[in-house]
Amino acid sequence: MAENEKLECLKKLQDVLREKYKLEQQVETLPRELRREEAVLRNVEKEFSDLQALAAETADEVKSLSIRYEDAFQTRTGYEKQMEFLNTQREYEALSKQLEDARANEETLLKQRNSKTKESEKLKKELVEKEEAVAAQRAKVEEEKSKVDSELEGIQDKINALDAECLTVKGTVISDELYEKFSNIVKKKNGEGVVPVHGQVCMGCDRVLPMQFVIDLRLHQEHNEIDYCPYCSRIIWYEQLDPETEKSYIFEQLESKGTSESKASSSSGEAQQDSDSYDESMGEGFEDF
Ligand SMILES: [Zn+2]
Repeated sequence: MAENEKLECLKKLQDVLREKYKLEQQVETLPRELRREEAVLRNVEKEFSDLQALAAETADEVKSLSIRYEDAFQTRTGYEKQMEFLNTQREYEALSKQLEDARANEETLLKQRNSKTKESEKLKKELVEKEEAVAAQRAKVEEEKSKVDSELEGIQDKINALDAECLTVKGTVISDELYEKFSNIVKKKNGEGVVPVHGQVCMGCDRVLPMQFVIDLRLHQEHNEIDYCPYCSRIIWYEQLDPETEKSYIFEQLESKGTSESKASSSSGEAQQDSDSYDESMGEGFEDF
């Protein structure tokens, strides 16, 4: 069989394209860890700012309680001084009651101020810790980011080189249109854009092609033409096998001999035995790339 220049070129292109798509996938998955660390940073920053607000509020409350306690202290000591200058029993009783209330008030405010002060000290400590956590996480994000950036740059350089290689391989043998179409097929079909046909079976999708289709395919192939699998849209080429192996991939011969059992059903998985049905509703239909 004469060499099909286009086909050979496509096979070479496929190798380069596979490598390129693998790298493109890396470009998408690489920043995932960075995104995670950035989300952690946003959380810690939010916690820090909430804590900051709470600490400021608590410090204000300490200030206000201190002033009120100071007032209560002055009031109580004022009453105690007045006690020394009382004339009547009635005045004494009235002042005693006021003094008692003032002492109680002073005591309450002192307790409140002390407990709030404790709370405030604790928050200040927590705030320092949280600030350190924010700084540490920020450093982690920066480190991850520069790592990802430099890796991405390296990958992008490789992708550009592979693009250039594709154009060299493609040369004038493959038209721009076919190149575009083939690139899409390789990408969509997980790196399998050009597959052999064994006997009547497409090795891309394991479907059985009609005998006449395969005869035409072989003819086209010799005339440097390209055919597509009508089931999975991949570019197909006829691969000559040794006659014994080939037989297990040819259904119409087996059927015409009245053989109901086909060897190919085991080797080609879910291959359809009914080779004449181009049922696009079965599995992957033909896609126009
Ligand atoms: Zn196919």
